[in-house]
Amino acid sequence: MIDLRSDTVTRPDEAMREAASTAAVGDDVYDEDPTVNELEARAAEAVGMQAALYVPTGTMGNQIAARTHADRGDELLCERDSHIYNWEVGGLAQLSGIQARPIDGGARGVITPAAVHDAYVERTDHRPGTGLLAIENTHNQKGGIAITADEIDAAAAAADEHDVPTHVDGARLFNASVALDTPASRLLDSADSVMFCLSKGLGAPVGSMLAGSEAFVERAHRNRKLFGGGMRQAGLVAAPGIEALDNVDRLAEDHANARTLAAGLDAIDGLVAAPPETNIVLVETDDPAEAFVEAIAAEGVRASAFGEHTVRLCTHWDVDESNIEQAIERVERALD
Ligand SMILES: *Cc1c(COP(=O)(O)O)cnc(C)c1O
Repeated sequence: MIDLRSDTVTRPDEAMREAASTAAVGDDVYDEDPTVNELEARAAEAVGMQAALYVPTGTMGNQIAARTHADRGDELLCERDSHIYNWEVGGLAQLSGIQARPIDGGARGVITPAAVHDAYVERTDHRPGTGLLAIENTHNQKGGIAITADEIDAAAAAADEHDVPTHVDGARLFNASVALDTPASRLLDSADSVMFCLSKGLGAPVGSMLAGSEAFVERAHRNRKLFGGGMRQAGLVAAPGIEALDNVDRLAEDHANARTLAAGLDAIDGLVAAPPETNIVLVETDDPAEAFVEAIAAEGVRASAFGEHTVRLCTHWDVDESNIEQAIERVERALD
């Protein structure tokens, strides 16, 4: 089976298993796990922030960020197809009493400064007030679009004019960094916080990082406890995360494989796939997406239905170039 449903399906390699089994540990809720502390220091450095916090999942990282930046009753500005709004079980409302004000970011999911000014709500006796701007990079549902540093700066500057901070949902931040050949820290120049996943293209089994200023991370630490994310001897799962930080450059292979995959699929009758910017390929199918996914699964390729006629395929470190060639052949056979 060639599993292209997501870049989360990767299994830890030997080096990660070895790191886990030999990790020094302590009680991380007391900040006493040396492995977690090392991961947090290295992650902060990797994104050019003062401090970072290890969290079990990207979802929790985003939710802690929202809770930490914004007050109950505030609004969060986000792109209409963003993860934080669509795929986190309404956590903003359920956990923090925040309502989202979605912005249509067009085909690439880019929030413009004009859109920020337009959507901003000033807190009055009648209106909620805008508490946070969230920018997703890469933009998952738009097909792994890499939002540029200039685009982020422009939106964040607009938010800043209203004293609204900016959080980057960078689940795949390093994919954007590699695709744009721009350091992650540069992409975050005007961001107040960022979440990135260790467990996607970087290949770790568990975990995400939430980074920002020291003061932000201190408050986020308390909210992590509130959301049930305080872990004890977490060094065992954090150790592979340290290994994962070395996998950034490898993401370029996933991007090359995604381009090969998209070109191969686009050449098949009944399929349209635009050249991807990163590791996510969106395919428009003549058949209903669910039927297409079932048909290719029968040939040994797994993908995710992403819309009525849209299917997502992700490349990752458990599939190499030859798997991609095979996947294209199998899809062709499935549609024959
Ligand atoms: C995967 C993802 C998340 C959430 O990460 P989990 O670790 O699966 O909770 C958040 N945002 C985006 C854009 C993602 O793709």
